[in-house]
Amino acid sequence: MDEKMKTDVLIIGAGGAGLTAALAAKNAGVNVRVITKEYPTRSQTCMAQGGMNAALGNISPDSIEEHIQNTLKSAHGQANEEAVRYMCSEAPNAVAWLDEIGVCFSRTPEGKIAQRRLGGASAPRACYAQDYTGLKILHTLYERCLQKDIEMLNERYLVDLLCKKDGSVCGALILNIRSGEIEHLFAKSVILATGGYSRVYDKYSTNSTASTGDGIATAKRAGVKLLGMEFVQFHPTGLKNSSILISESARGEGGYLLNSKGERFTNELAPRDEVSRAIHEQILAGEEVFLDIRHLGEQFIDENLPQERKLALLYENVDPVKDLIPIKAVAHYTMGGIEVDNKSQTSVSGLFACGECANHKVHGANRLGGNSLLEIIVFGREAGKSAANFNLCDDKCQNDFDFKKETNFLESLKEYKNEIDFYEKRTFVGELFYKKVGIIRKESELLNAQEELQLLQNQLPQMGVKDGSKVYNTNLVEFIEFRNMLDVCEVVVASALARKESCGAHFVAEE
Ligand SMILES: Cc1cc2nc3c(=O)[nH]c(=O)nc-3n(C[C@H](O)[C@H](O)[C@H](O)COP(=O)(O)OP(=O)(O)OC[C@H]3O[C@@H](n4cnc5c(N)ncnc54)[C@H](O)[C@@H]3O)c2cc1C
Repeated sequence: MDEKMKTDVLIIGAGGAGLTAALAAKNAGVNVRVITKEYPTRSQTCMAQGGMNAALGNISPDSIEEHIQNTLKSAHGQANEEAVRYMCSEAPNAVAWLDEIGVCFSRTPEGKIAQRRLGGASAPRACYAQDYTGLKILHTLYERCLQKDIEMLNERYLVDLLCKKDGSVCGALILNIRSGEIEHLFAKSVILATGGYSRVYDKYSTNSTASTGDGIATAKRAGVKLLGMEFVQFHPTGLKNSSILISESARGEGGYLLNSKGERFTNELAPRDEVSRAIHEQILAGEEVFLDIRHLGEQFIDENLPQERKLALLYENVDPVKDLIPIKAVAHYTMGGIEVDNKSQTSVSGLFACGECANHKVHGANRLGGNSLLEIIVFGREAGKSAANFNLCDDKCQNDFDFKKETNFLESLKEYKNEIDFYEKRTFVGELFYKKVGIIRKESELLNAQEELQLLQNQLPQMGVKDGSKVYNTNLVEFIEFRNMLDVCEVVVASALARKESCGAHFVAEE
C-alpha cells in the first residue's frame, strides 16, 4: 500500500466539528488528515449567526442546571440526560477555550463576553461575535489547524467508506474533484463530520448547498445505525423569497412577529417548533408574516445585527430599520443522524462521528438555538480524542487493511443513461418534502412521499451524468449528492411513518 495514502486519523469534513476534532486528535500526538469537498473556510459553520450557549451569567444570573433543564424540555423526552449534562457542564470550558485560541467574542462594557437570549432559554446565554459567530469560530479553528501543520486536502469528495472484512471501517473512497482521480485513503480510525441534510428541502432550506447528508448516506450503506432521522427543525424566520436565514438573535434582541393585520400572534421566544407551526398556520390561513425590528433603532441594529440588515437588503430588498421583513418557516437543522455514544463512537468499529451528521442525543426532537455550535466544540473534542486513542497498538492496521472490495458506485455509473434530468428531480424532491414531510405531517402524505422516492430510486440508472470530463466535474459530484439525498430521504420518511405521535419538530396532524 502507498504510504502516502495512510494516516492515523482521517477526518471527513472541515466545518467546526471536523476542525475541532482535528485539533484534539493532533494534540493527542497522532497524524491527522482532514478532507473536505469544498474549502474549510466555506463550511456551513461560517453561516451561524446568533451564538453559542454557555451558562456564564454575564448579563443576568444563570446556571448550568437551568441550561440542562431548558435543553431537556426542548428535546421532548428524546435526549439522553447524561449526554446533555455533559455538554452543558462543558460549555463554559468550551467558550473559554475558543476565547483563548482567539475567537473575538463581543464584549459587555465591563469586558465580559456578551450574551443574548435565544428561544427556549431562561436567561441570556448565547455568547456571540456580533451576528458572525460561526464565521469567527470557523476561521479561528482553521488558523489553528494550519499552525499545527494538520494536513488539509480540499476538493476531495467522500464517495463511500472502506470497510474491512469484519465490517469495521478502515478508510474512505475519495473522488479528487480537481483531477478526477479516485483515491483510497486508509486510516486507523475515521471521523465523519460532514454536516446535516436540510438541503433535501432544496430551496426551502437555510442551509449551505453542501448539506446533502453525504456522510449519513455513506454510513447507512456501511451498515452504521442512524437515529432520530424524522426530526427536522424548521426555523421560523427564513426570508420569504430566498429562505436565507434571519437569525433568532433578531427576536432575541426584541423583534416581533406580525401578521398582515399587524397583530402579534405567538410568543416570539418559544422553542422553534412552536413558533414555526404558529407561522405556518398563519400562512395557511392566508396571512403574510413579517419580522419587525424597526423599534430597535438603526444604531442598535448596526451594532448588534449588522449581517441581518445586509441580508434583508440584499435578498429581500427591504431595510429592517424602516421596513417589515417578510418571512416563512424553512428547514434549518437536522437533529437526526449517525447514532453515537458519549465518546462519539458509532455502531461500527473504527468509525466515529461528530457535528450535525451525528446524533449525540443532546437535541432530541427539537434543538435549542445556540446548542449546535456548543455541540460541535464539546463533542468535536471528544471525537478527536477517541479516534486518536483507537487501535493505536494494532500493528495489523498499519500494514494490511485486508478490506472488502467496496461497491464502486463510480464504476457502475458508466452504465447509467442520461434520459432523465436529475436536477429537475432534485427540485421536485425539495417541493415534495416541504409539502409532505414538512412542518405538519399526515400519514397519507408520508406514504405518498415514500412511493415517489421509490420511483426515483428505480429511475436513478436512467439519470446519470451528462458531462464526461474528468477534471472539476461538478455535474458528477452533484449526481452523487443527489443519490445520497435519496438514500437519506428514504430513512427520513420511514422514521416519520414509524413515529405515530407528535413529538417536538415531528408534528402529526389528523387526516
Ligand atoms: C444560517 C445558519 C445559521 C446558524 N446559526 C447558528 C447559531 O447561531 N448557533 C448555533 O448553535 N447553530 C447555528 N446553526 C447550526 C450550526 O451552524 C451547524 O449545525 C454547525 O455549524 C454544523 O457544523 P458541522 O461541522 O457539523 O458541519 P458543517 O459546518 O456543515 O461542515 C461540514 C463539512 O463536511 C464537508 N463535507 C460534506 N460532505 C462531504 C463529502 N461527501 N466529502 C467531503 N467533505 C464533505 C463540507 O465540505 C464541510 O467542510 C446555524 C446554521 C445555519 C445554516
